[in-house]
Amino acid sequence: MDATTPTSTSTTQAILELAQRYIPGGVSSANRLVDPNLVFTRSQGAYLFDAEGKRYIDYHAAFGPLLLGHSHPLVNQRAAEAVMQLDGVGIGSNEQEARLAEKICSYVPSAEKVLFCNSGSEATYAALRLARAVTGRNKIIKFQGCYHGWHDAVLMNVISPAEKIGQKDPLSAGMLPETIENTIVLPFNDLEAVRQTLVQNGEEIAAIILELIPHNIGCVLPQLAFVQGLRDLSTHYGSILIFDEVITGFRHGLGGYQKVLGVTPDLTTLAKAIANGYPLAALAGRADLLDHCRPGGDVFFAGTFNAHPMSIAAALTTIEILEQPDSYPHLFRLGERMREGLREIIQRRGINATVAGFGSIFVTYFMEPPVETYTDLLRNDATKFVNYRRQLIERGIYKLPVNLKRNHISLAHTTADIDQTLEAVDQVLR
Ligand code: PMP
Repeated sequence: MDATTPTSTSTTQAILELAQRYIPGGVSSANRLVDPNLVFTRSQGAYLFDAEGKRYIDYHAAFGPLLLGHSHPLVNQRAAEAVMQLDGVGIGSNEQEARLAEKICSYVPSAEKVLFCNSGSEATYAALRLARAVTGRNKIIKFQGCYHGWHDAVLMNVISPAEKIGQKDPLSAGMLPETIENTIVLPFNDLEAVRQTLVQNGEEIAAIILELIPHNIGCVLPQLAFVQGLRDLSTHYGSILIFDEVITGFRHGLGGYQKVLGVTPDLTTLAKAIANGYPLAALAGRADLLDHCRPGGDVFFAGTFNAHPMSIAAALTTIEILEQPDSYPHLFRLGERMREGLREIIQRRGINATVAGFGSIFVTYFMEPPVETYTDLLRNDATKFVNYRRQLIERGIYKLPVNLKRNHISLAHTTADIDQTLEAVDQVLR
């Protein structure tokens, strides 16, 4: 510690100064907003508490994992008990890990086998490597508006400005040009664009990867014919179809959104909500594909912390809670109450806005419908979108004040929380 280190971290300013002194920008992840007036120091259930002790109803949910709410007592207890018993695996098989894989296979339609890692980015990286290995091809197709993690093959064309639509829009310096070149970006819900690309380059496409609902731009629902068409075209051209269910997995049902739609991919990636905030991700899919990753197989898959007992116990407990008969109906009822309430306010006040969402996810865009593809969202008034959220934050409702970000409801939210939120929305929109 040197003379410039703040000695007290009891206030927002002191915490920010300390973080920014030793961490670039004060945060460890690109999308973590630095708000000079707000540092959260405690979380419980549906709530966040700032350094000054003020309570916020949280709809950010740490970018989505906290499906049961913050610091879930039973999840925490089981995770703690797990590490008291066995604090790392590192060698051989483990019963709890196998039980979790069995559970995922019983629920997720595409899952015949499962591999565990720690983050969504690792899972999509492994899925794409596996697809390239089994097809012997290099190119992949992704869609404008979808985010699949921080690695070079996919870190492009998420929230692109209008002038970058139809071109490559990489999100970082230092990405390998050859890797960027091997990714083809197409519009979401545009089956004809995919068909044309496959007619021209079908022999070169290793994989088609998509967020089944692109929640990284709020909530754009997929047309069933689009997803079914992707399934048929992938099969026809021998490409691997990957559903990135990092957000939708468990949040929209234990079988993921693929179960809701009734379309089964070759590979599925899961993360975020599967362990309610503990670091865990999974690559699941066809056994003949996953078996390439066995030790000594031709596809290398590894990680010191993979299938950490703490996260495995958290995931098993999360499933146990989600299996209770009223969990999803209750969660979805809360989502519906929120969306209906928002629509009523918007209509009554004559605001030019559109409420979108599914299940426990909701978002208010400041634009007219439709919301079918990324370019529709260029009509959203980003300034209004962010200002609206900043005013809600002042009223103790936390929605990430960043354009197009979705909001998450958890099982810890109550109807009183939803109603209090709607009252605040009504005040702000007045
Ligand atoms: N896929 C999707 C759909 C995501 O939303 C994210 C994270 N926002 C990722 C992959 C990457 O996951 P992680 O941040 O855990 O690496």
